[in-house]
Amino acid sequence: MNRPFTRSAHLASLRALDFDVLVVGGGATGLGIAVDAASRGYRTALVEAHDFAKCTSSRSTKLVHGGVRYLEQMQIGLVTEALVERAILCENAPHLAHDLAFIVPRYHWWEGPFYGVGLKLYDALAGKRNFGSSRSLSREETIAAIPGVREDGLLGGIEYHDAQFDDARMALALARTAASRGAVIVTRARCEGLVKDEGQVVGAEIRDVEGGQGFKVRASIVVNATGVFVDQLRAYDDPAAFDRIVGAIVDLTVTYLSGQIEAGVEAVQLFDSWAGSLSPAQFERWVIAPNAAIVERLRARHPGTPIIGFPKGAGAKLVDYAAGVKPDAIGLDETLDPVWADRSLPAGMPVQGNLDPLALLAGGTALDDGIDRVLTAFPERPHVFNLGHGIGQHTPIAHVEQLIARVRGK
Ligand SMILES: Cc1cc2nc3c(=O)[nH]c(=O)nc-3n(C[C@H](O)[C@H](O)[C@H](O)COP(=O)(O)OP(=O)(O)OC[C@H]3O[C@@H](n4cnc5c(N)ncnc54)[C@H](O)[C@@H]3O)c2cc1C
Repeated sequence: MNRPFTRSAHLASLRALDFDVLVVGGGATGLGIAVDAASRGYRTALVEAHDFAKCTSSRSTKLVHGGVRYLEQMQIGLVTEALVERAILCENAPHLAHDLAFIVPRYHWWEGPFYGVGLKLYDALAGKRNFGSSRSLSREETIAAIPGVREDGLLGGIEYHDAQFDDARMALALARTAASRGAVIVTRARCEGLVKDEGQVVGAEIRDVEGGQGFKVRASIVVNATGVFVDQLRAYDDPAAFDRIVGAIVDLTVTYLSGQIEAGVEAVQLFDSWAGSLSPAQFERWVIAPNAAIVERLRARHPGTPIIGFPKGAGAKLVDYAAGVKPDAIGLDETLDPVWADRSLPAGMPVQGNLDPLALLAGGTALDDGIDRVLTAFPERPHVFNLGHGIGQHTPIAHVEQLIARVRGK
């Protein structure tokens, strides 16, 4: 069917047609399935709650690897298959995937033969599809190729080849390909339930996130390609199972954090990633309710220990979180406007201001500005200063000293 690749045209088709395959999730997995199904002639639709590759599929390490690490476990079949796929991807999308050389520095004598033999096997499995042969590098060549490498004890390096790709653009290319094969592809369309007939799934309840309307889409097969959200969709099939899982997670979290408190920690933190991508109803059920239960039970066992709630990425839902979970302090990620947060949160609630992790790496005025942004935003509130991702192996110690001096000086 000739249909312009616009959201409105695809949304209209989604509402009007029945499908053989309805894919939920527009990441690498869902889009790949949509290309495959549409290419085979199935009437295919895909719904994505946000935008293509919004979640894991735009945050990968961007490697199209042939599974080099699986060689250690001698998974030859898996590596061979991955090397074939690597070659196909580079051939089909040379504008998005390309050769990339890697160097493994060597500090022990045995690493030469160990990596050397392993990577020669990798070359052999790639055969004609290889991008370049692995080779040994001298100490000087390794330092020239990796200027920041630790030189103390360095013997040399081994170079081998894999591929790198642009994951988010690859997702767009897959979406366009699926659409060109006739698939209906709609972003900002969230699956909020399953349609069943005599116990069988025969479609899904979809909400147009832009317009707000809900509607049903009928499909012979509904594919759950929602990545880390896979259990949320499964819960639509068996809600009681999900409640059992959440109950177990609450029990385990209380046990784990109690162990930390009994071991002497002064405060504990409840961290939720991806919380903001949930609908308000999901946020209430899967974030607020379980976290409120954890806080209540922890307080009963350890009344004196402060609990920091940190629903990362929650955006404006932070206010509901603070009211519903009632933590002793609340964490703010660096994407939130601190002035808004100060105005919106309950008076007197301590906040944990998180430094942008890049500022700590950058140092200089970027670090000073980042620190001041956190410190000056909450003049009337007690607050905890959090280092974002903390001090990593690449964090210059001078930047940590600069940070301590500035925080103590304010
Ligand atoms: C740190 C890290 C590094 C990685 N590096 C690499 C690498 O170098 N090379 C490599 O090949 N792989 C890598 N991976 C693995 C790869 O990124 C993932 O396997 C892949 O992105 C998973 O894609 P997905 O489509 O299954 O999930 P996702 O990309 O998470 O897509 C799921 C989609 O479903 C949508 N969704 C969720 N719920 C609903 C709903 N109810 N209705 C509609 N839509 C919904 C979400 O918005 C999301 O867009 C890495 C993974 C991680 C975590």
